[in-house]
Amino acid sequence: MALAHGRPERHKVQIRKGDNVKVIAGKDAGKSGRILWINDRKNTVVVEHVGIIKRHTRPNPSKNVKGGIIEKEAGINVSNVMVICPSCGKHTRVGHTILPDGSKLRSCRHCKATLDK
Ligand SMILES: [Zn+2]
Repeated sequence: MALAHGRPERHKVQIRKGDNVKVIAGKDAGKSGRILWINDRKNTVVVEHVGIIKRHTRPNPSKNVKGGIIEKEAGINVSNVMVICPSCGKHTRVGHTILPDGSKLRSCRHCKATLDK
């Protein structure tokens, strides 16, 4: 792997898989959970226990599919969630702390604690 040099910024919202986030808009506003995955192209994230959709499936023995209702987390727009700071517990916009060596860390706008370990 080459060193990350001039790597393009993926998108302006600095959310990563595994982050704890709070939903701030949409029908699941107020819920919180962990980011399970991020869809960069559609700018959506899948949050644990948030945006559950129920999908009815028919049994299909040739494909070994059992019928019934599948519960699945649906993606929600990344702009509808905010990172929860592990230090102060508030949902926050993500700031940056530049270290003396030039590396960037994500930080909480409230308490300035770093969001990265
Ligand atoms: Zn904080």
